[in-house]
Amino acid sequence: TYAWFSQRAWVEIDLKALSHNVQQLVKYLSPRTQLMAVVKADAYGHGAVTVAQTALQSGASWLGVATVPEGIQLREAGIEAPILILGATHTPEQIHAIAHWKLQPTLCSPKQALIFSNVLEAINYGSPVPIHIKLDTGMSRLGTDWQQAAEFVQLVQRLPHLAIASIYSHLATADSLDPRVMQEQHRRFEEAIAQLKGMGIKIPCLHLANSAATLTDSALHYDIVRVGLAVYGLYPAAHLQTAIDLKPVLQLNARVTQVKTIAVGTGVSYGHQFIAPHELRLAVVGIGYADGVPRNLSQNMQVLIRGQRVPQIGTITMDQLMLDASAIPDLQEGEIVTLLGEQGKEQISANDWAERLNTISWEILCGFKHRLPRVAV
Ligand code: PLP
Repeated sequence: TYAWFSQRAWVEIDLKALSHNVQQLVKYLSPRTQLMAVVKADAYGHGAVTVAQTALQSGASWLGVATVPEGIQLREAGIEAPILILGATHTPEQIHAIAHWKLQPTLCSPKQALIFSNVLEAINYGSPVPIHIKLDTGMSRLGTDWQQAAEFVQLVQRLPHLAIASIYSHLATADSLDPRVMQEQHRRFEEAIAQLKGMGIKIPCLHLANSAATLTDSALHYDIVRVGLAVYGLYPAAHLQTAIDLKPVLQLNARVTQVKTIAVGTGVSYGHQFIAPHELRLAVVGIGYADGVPRNLSQNMQVLIRGQRVPQIGTITMDQLMLDASAIPDLQEGEIVTLLGEQGKEQISANDWAERLNTISWEILCGFKHRLPRVAV
């Protein structure tokens, strides 16, 4: 636990908002479909253990991570829910850890399946390890080509120590207004499954949808939806905002560390990219690019103080940034500055930053560094 009131900067995690989002998602899904909370990358920067625990308490039944250590971190915290590793795993060390910690790997190729089976055989592993077959239906990332699904599944069925827990794929364009690529991926997934069924192969569980697909079309939901961004209260695209009510979970705060008046013509910060056009009240804030505030936002961002928007001036530095706080003449050192989140009627979202930076909100959320304590509220 941190004495958060003494921090210069911190990330606030609103667990009520998180719980609300998970409950909204569960309510939106049919009872047949389970919710996997995707908590990779330290729960998109929100803190994996706290997020996983809250999501499970609120109705999620699966967790998705990218790597073995991310899965182990959750197990060490006492979490017993099924954990799918979405990334590739190959080494004996990874496979031993998967078996030991009862994690569930993704199998992407026949070669990987053989490695798993051999490594588990070598340690004479007792019960079969549940594995998830990944098909590439058009993302061109991990997975076996959907047209080879039957051969791949039949191979895995023949191998000792492996039990197929699900077959899944990932969509490349679910957040696009143009549905055609997604529809083609969906068709390919259906065709692969139909072929398997035609061969009498029993399919235990299917999944395809990320946040965008979950909010787009219930035909994409199958048995599990793998939801990341929406759990954190952000919409994957503007046109998906009507589906359900989501609340942003993360708020980024810092404190004013010094206030001073500068004269007209005074240069501010490295390179003097800002020259005061008139006398102004300058506020220094204790947060910078080493905390994850992108330097490319310099002079192109606002923050919230006392519910008012305040412009940032000069180049953002490693640990500090400056504001023109002339609109708040009595601003005090120690006051809270909200860089992302809500104050009164004003709100600044990760999407606002993403648009200015020509990137996506996912990258903004994952960018906050460990120097910033995560404070659950
Ligand atoms: N499924 C897979 C395989 C992923 O890689 C991800 C994240 O990138 C997700 C689901 C969750 O995506 P989103 O955050 O868009 O819901």
